[in-house]
Amino acid sequence: MSIGRFITLDGIDGGGKSTQVDLLSRWFFSRGKSCRTFRDPGSTQLGEALRDILLHREEIPLAARSEMLLYMASRAQLVEEQLRPALAECDFVITDRYLLANVVYQGSAGGLDPDAIWEVGRVATGGLAPDLTVVLDLPLDAAAARIARARDRLESRSEDYFRRIRQGFLDQHHRASKHSIVVDATQSIESIHQHITSAVAAAFDLD
Ligand code: ADP
Repeated sequence: MSIGRFITLDGIDGGGKSTQVDLLSRWFFSRGKSCRTFRDPGSTQLGEALRDILLHREEIPLAARSEMLLYMASRAQLVEEQLRPALAECDFVITDRYLLANVVYQGSAGGLDPDAIWEVGRVATGGLAPDLTVVLDLPLDAAAARIARARDRLESRSEDYFRRIRQGFLDQHHRASKHSIVVDATQSIESIHQHITSAVAAAFDLD
């Protein structure tokens, strides 16, 4: 039986997801709550192998549907091998990205039907949805200024593609989980953390 609450942080690269996942997990520990963190894609042997193909093996051709399904395969394994067991044991589970990113990148920005991706996602996850989704929102140039990786991609992708990603997160986040919020990620690390912890406290009735 699942006792834990499932939180996911999402948004474009450089928005501060991994920074905030780390701060939030420390915040839980400081309040005596158990917490485990994972990344999607990844966090299983299969998931890390697929992550390598998806993010680093540009020489391997990937059709849009294959790409979408590899993310799904990674997530299906993550759910079975890590998330369900962790939710059975811990108070909180946090993931760096989840199904929403798949819908936005391959759907809103990538041309596949977002509704179809939500549906495939429901099958892949066995219906495991986050209880709270936090989208870190910021303009592309602000994200690119933070990480060289985003700048490299900017050169290879059109600005319009990134506009569709940002808009996709704003349009789709409501469908990701029961509670979802968008946080202005141009703020300082500490003030974003405070926004997130207030939303967490409100969603889960913590003091
Ligand atoms: P993501 O996981 O979304 O790609 P990271 O947490 O790795 O983002 O952050 C990318 C870079 O931006 C890191 O160098 C991090 O220290 C920095 N960073 C994160 N949040 C902020 C912030 N609010 N303001 C300025 N820099 C930030």
